[in-house]
Amino acid sequence: MTTFEYSPALESRSIVSIQPEYGHFINGVFVTGTNHFVTINPADEEVLSRVALGNADDIDRAVDAARIAFEATWSKMPGKERGKYLYRIARILQERAREFAVLESLDNGKPIRESRDIDVPLAAAHFFYHAGWADKLDYAGLGHAPRAHGVAGQIIPWNFPLLMLAWKIAPALAAGNTVVLKPAETTPLTALLFAQVCQQAELPPGVVNIVTGDGRTGAALVDHPGIDKVAFTGSTEVGKAIARAIAPTKKKATLELGGKGANIVFDDAPIDECVEGIVDGIFFNQGHVCCAGSRLLLQENIAAEVLEKLKIRMAKIRVGDPLDKNTDLGAINSRAQLNKIQTLSQAGESEGAERWSPDCSLPKKGFWYPPTIFTGVTQAHRIAREEIFGPVLSVLTFRTPQEGMEKANDSPYGLSAGIWSEKGSRILWAAQQLKAGVIWANTFNKFDPASPFGGYKESGWGREGGRHGLTAYLASAEENND
Ligand code: NDP
Repeated sequence: MTTFEYSPALESRSIVSIQPEYGHFINGVFVTGTNHFVTINPADEEVLSRVALGNADDIDRAVDAARIAFEATWSKMPGKERGKYLYRIARILQERAREFAVLESLDNGKPIRESRDIDVPLAAAHFFYHAGWADKLDYAGLGHAPRAHGVAGQIIPWNFPLLMLAWKIAPALAAGNTVVLKPAETTPLTALLFAQVCQQAELPPGVVNIVTGDGRTGAALVDHPGIDKVAFTGSTEVGKAIARAIAPTKKKATLELGGKGANIVFDDAPIDECVEGIVDGIFFNQGHVCCAGSRLLLQENIAAEVLEKLKIRMAKIRVGDPLDKNTDLGAINSRAQLNKIQTLSQAGESEGAERWSPDCSLPKKGFWYPPTIFTGVTQAHRIAREEIFGPVLSVLTFRTPQEGMEKANDSPYGLSAGIWSEKGSRILWAAQQLKAGVIWANTFNKFDPASPFGGYKESGWGREGGRHGLTAYLASAEENND
């Protein structure tokens, strides 16, 4: 086999200026924190900055600022004026796109090609899309005189730090809510750069507040009596804890949780295209994707051919420096996540599945894991049931289409699925059987702000994106008078 050697094509990091220490962003200004923690570059473990560790007092100040901004300014502002701020933020994100992309790759470990071409443009697109909604809420079938809930407490994970921030903040602001957002402990830097964008856009103080910290900071936000809605993306375990915490309250919630997406290949599928879709489904963003196609279900009569071609394709995946524009697979986000991937992979082997990775040399420093597949996996294996959240694919087979559907649905999760077939009728039949919130056909991992996203079963409550996602930030006039 002939392989090309690429010279490194490093994106310069000179465009970002990272401060040695950051405080919280409350009421339009940065305020000093009491305690701090470090955030590192997972590709080489370099300390990037010290970031404030938010406590209950910080959350209290942020919620107060958000409440005052809601009552005095934001809820009184006409929708078309709110929309102007959202357009302004979207345009600034575009203007500063390279800065955001480099910072995201440094703090998260994802390849610059993905942060540059996917995360940042999609984040800007979310603000553009929701800007257009802000002045149309009364005319779009969103209930009688829809009104904002008030203050939204938003907690986001580390896999798409800026994009998840955009998924949360853009609809909340368009609907007239103010927010307190807590980024993930390992990836706070693009949220803090976004705070500077809010200043640049002259967003009224208190409309967006960002309190950095860890799980305790997130719990303090959920428990705060001054918030009206919780919006969370993260693990099912924490999602359940949040559901328990808010059960006795009137707080609204949307929970976007884990997944174990089935990527189902029927024997009439175009094999070469489908191999690309499998690679995109599991190795995009190092597999740190809630809707990843992490369970590959192959119809038995084509399994050998697909696996042979998949292995050839996987051998071409370039693992390495996230800032190198040639890189396909970057660093694992944290040591804790690497440990989890290793533990589950070991469980796969000890339960009898067969592990394969192409030859690839991994950098010595930082957190790395090679692209990996497991064959001979059964429904009972942990690697078929639990979210690995890494570049690890579990391969199962099925004989009849019905058996394929049963195996696909045999999961506590129900977030995403992919169907590969050249027959439209089979795709529609399968889509109706599958218990998954997002179903792709002959493609995978396609996102658009106009398209609702969310899951069944343990994958969460509610939808984000599109008209459905906006509805979750609105109540009818009657509800508000409860
Ligand atoms: P978590 O669910 O713990 O983290 C998500 C966010 O919630 C982070 O901001 C986190 O803060 C915060 N948080 C943690 N504990 C609480 C709490 N009790 N109350 C409120 N907020 C809290 O995910 P992890 O980062 O720990 O990852 C663990 C596993 O979760 C992964 O291996 C993966 O399987 C899954 N995961 C799934 C995601 C998805 O999109 N489906 C996203 C991320 C993880 P902090 O980061 O500071 O701890």
